[in-house]
Amino acid sequence: MGFPRIRGDTVTDAPSTPTLVMIDKVTLAATLPEGAAPFRAVDPASNTINATDLGITRGDGIFEGLGVVDGHIQAFDAHLARLARSARMLDLPDLDLDVIAAAVRHSVELHAPAPFLLSKLVVTRGIEGSGIPTAWVHTTGGFDFDAERANGISVVLLDRGYRHDVAQTSPWLLQGAKTLSYAVNKSVLREAARRGADDVIFLSSDGYLLEGPSASLIVRFGNRVVTPRVDLGILEGTTQVAAFDYFAAEGYETSYELLTPADLAGADGLWLASSGRQIAPISRLDGQEVAIDRDLTDRMAARLLGRTA
Ligand code: PLP
Repeated sequence: MGFPRIRGDTVTDAPSTPTLVMIDKVTLAATLPEGAAPFRAVDPASNTINATDLGITRGDGIFEGLGVVDGHIQAFDAHLARLARSARMLDLPDLDLDVIAAAVRHSVELHAPAPFLLSKLVVTRGIEGSGIPTAWVHTTGGFDFDAERANGISVVLLDRGYRHDVAQTSPWLLQGAKTLSYAVNKSVLREAARRGADDVIFLSSDGYLLEGPSASLIVRFGNRVVTPRVDLGILEGTTQVAAFDYFAAEGYETSYELLTPADLAGADGLWLASSGRQIAPISRLDGQEVAIDRDLTDRMAARLLGRTA
């Protein structure tokens, strides 16, 4: 059967049928009526979300995007741990991670088998005034990142406007939480497009490399592979961690460091890594060509996608 082809957010041909599972027991404290199930599959086309839900009206909530390879949910525990961390940063009630995990699995099982699916798990602060989070899992297929994996992506550096120590000085800005407030993460892609590029690497206002709007940055210097430190108000990427496992197994040294754009002049390879695209080599940075290593990228992608022995 055919799956829809998606680049970024755009579905470009025939459909697979997405699944949607609403989670009714989101928090540890929640009680359900006798016999009620903690989650339920619903029609993904139905109007399931209340118009006053704070996730919609304020972007007040958190999410995870989980890659699913041949039915296997990648880095599942790491995603759940990051969801719980984001929930704590937003002062949301303690989440029932067992129920949430079961709902994600159910959403995946309901989908027709596919080589690659993406499950989007969302927890909002809930309907205004209710104090009860709303949560759901939406699973869909048909992503195609082959071209960018083969040819690389063009990236520009853009100022995020916060210092590298923002997470320590101003935790209320929620840098490092995976919040639903991604309007800025989308706006920078439009700015990248205006500059003729595909994607972005954020810089702190004091000049340190951070992350992409939906991906982690990985840099290779010879036998050393580096990513920006996770205390810089950025996400710890589950894909970056898996890529580091690959590099370590191949004998590379891996480390988390402070990096500046000047450091990239000595780099032998740059990638953006995320659950959706997995790994994309950067072939152009602020208009300058960057060499890409197809073999290394292919081997890493094969490992991340579980297609090697
Ligand atoms: N950084 C940001 C801002 C993201 O939104 C994401 C994922 O969407 C990542 C990094 C990469 O995280 P992961 O590899 O866990 O998908």
